[in-house]
Amino acid sequence: MDVRMGTRSTTRALDTEAVHAGRDDLARQGLHAPPIDLSTTYPAFDSRGEAARIDAFAATGAQPDGPPVYGRLGNPTVARFETALARLEGTETAVAFASGMAALSAVLLARGSMGLRHVVAVRPLYGCSDHLLTAGLLGSEVTWTDPAGVADALRPDTGLVLVESPANPTLAEVDLRALARDCGSVPLLVDNTFATPVLQRPAEHGARMVLHSATKYLGGHGDVLAGVVACDEESAGRLRQIRFATGGVLHPLAGYLLLRGLSTLPVRVRAASASAAELARRLTADPRVARVHYPRVGGAMVSFEVYGDPHEVIGGVRLITPAVSLGSVDSLIQHPASISHRIVDAGDRRAAGVDDRLLRLSVGLEDVEDLWADLDGALG
Ligand SMILES: *Cc1c(COP(=O)(O)O)cnc(C)c1O
Repeated sequence: MDVRMGTRSTTRALDTEAVHAGRDDLARQGLHAPPIDLSTTYPAFDSRGEAARIDAFAATGAQPDGPPVYGRLGNPTVARFETALARLEGTETAVAFASGMAALSAVLLARGSMGLRHVVAVRPLYGCSDHLLTAGLLGSEVTWTDPAGVADALRPDTGLVLVESPANPTLAEVDLRALARDCGSVPLLVDNTFATPVLQRPAEHGARMVLHSATKYLGGHGDVLAGVVACDEESAGRLRQIRFATGGVLHPLAGYLLLRGLSTLPVRVRAASASAAELARRLTADPRVARVHYPRVGGAMVSFEVYGDPHEVIGGVRLITPAVSLGSVDSLIQHPASISHRIVDAGDRRAAGVDDRLLRLSVGLEDVEDLWADLDGALG
């Protein structure tokens, strides 16, 4: 595949960026693997110069030039991951956090701190994102609507429009270009966790911010918890200030693992997507299955509603792991109504299309025949 990364000065393809972005300086330094910088503080004999850098950061949130100051202000290993993800998403920059929820929290705090506490959001969202908004835990007020209702839901104090596409767990898709138009000057945040920049780059369609639970496909091996927001430099400045002040930083070792994860992201996503499309095809033809959800954009997630008891399917898998989360090299399955979206009110959940018999399958890199044999057996 040859997706040229047009919004940057470079003309390198996505697959090339995945293995080189954030590493451009290494060879000149005589290095091959990126160094892991675990320092929490950095020596500064020029304290006047350091003071000026701290002032500049306080004013704009721009990443300070020169040597790092303190781990909460920025870390060179994490910065490599941020640079690489921004290249893949086609944005000016990116800001990494300790988890996807820390990233979403920082966005809500950043907008709220500007007096823009109202959020317009489209269901379904990841269960905890729904909960964070509905419970108003960060002082935001939410209006839920469908994509066609977004323009009418905007108010003078609306600071954010939030969607997932494909959405967790129904894989419902939103026309991002049309939605971005309807948002006018209000920033559109697209949670791109499910599609990844390999299949969809929302910034190209007008999204101002692109959020990832990097815990999922970006890390890709089920061993890193992380979040990131890819965006323009102005939005990023505020997010870095929030990150500095509230402390939801990403650990440098996690930054290293994420940068390593990005290098195989395109091949992992394409291989798992091919298996997912095949499983979706077989499930659609299967009389034990009432309905299959598989998005037009593709991807490695398949959701399906069974005629029988969904708990029996969860209890029946042997190769696939019954667990929350997704996007790992191995396949995972879970029942959204009782696990990932349990925290959402049952009426709201059903209204958003999350059927009580829906199962969400994250397809990994196992052989597709082995996966089908497992599913076939579990369906009973
Ligand atoms: C998992 C997930 C999140 C939350 O991310 P964490 O890294 O678990 O905090 C947000 N959005 C989507 C779509 C997710 O799947």
